[in-house]
Amino acid sequence: MPTASRKFRVLNFHGIGTPHRVLDPLEDVFWIGIDRFRDVLDRIAVHSDRERLFITFDDGNISDFLIAVPELQRRGLSAEFFVLTGRIGDPGSLGPEDIRALLQMGMRIGSHGIAHRDWTSLSARELNNELNASKATLERICGEPIRCAAIPFGRYNAAVLAALQRAGYVAAYSSDGGCMQTTAFLRPRTSIRHDTLDGELTEILSGKMSNLRWLRRAAAMAIKRWV
Ligand SMILES: [Zn+2]
Repeated sequence: MPTASRKFRVLNFHGIGTPHRVLDPLEDVFWIGIDRFRDVLDRIAVHSDRERLFITFDDGNISDFLIAVPELQRRGLSAEFFVLTGRIGDPGSLGPEDIRALLQMGMRIGSHGIAHRDWTSLSARELNNELNASKATLERICGEPIRCAAIPFGRYNAAVLAALQRAGYVAAYSSDGGCMQTTAFLRPRTSIRHDTLDGELTEILSGKMSNLRWLRRAAAMAIKRWV
């Protein structure tokens, strides 16, 4: 249904505050200020449908640990953090101890691959390595199974989804927007960017979509799943 407000919504963040590493091209739009981040969390914390609002973070930036987690805990919220294993321990990124600390604070950890590559552009061997080696690295650090992945750039196709399932993942988070079902393998999210307007945020939190947007999203996801 176009207005499935009872379904779950996933708000996805990347970096908060000032980056402590050189950003990739076009990445800066995904970094938001601390005040804006607090504002979004405040709205989630008091939302009437709060239990259906999920929070995720991609890329494993050190701001996950230094800024996001204290703000989440202050509001009784938790989140899932999708880490790039090729950046673990690099300046500006989470280290192994940070990742273990996140787990101990009740947060969840998932894979975002190794090197932030477009998974649709890789050979089968490269793709399998991104999925399997990142999972193994995180399982070594966390000491528990890693079951979820977040797809870099939200770019996927049928081969990517099949490879994720073969690698043992039970869920893959995309960036298709709108609602998601917790029983689905492919779980759409909406990224909160520094240019996300308040009105858009209200719509994202409500899970409501216009008929036209819902149809466009459904068509786009169907094409990506089968290509
Ligand atoms: Zn990413």
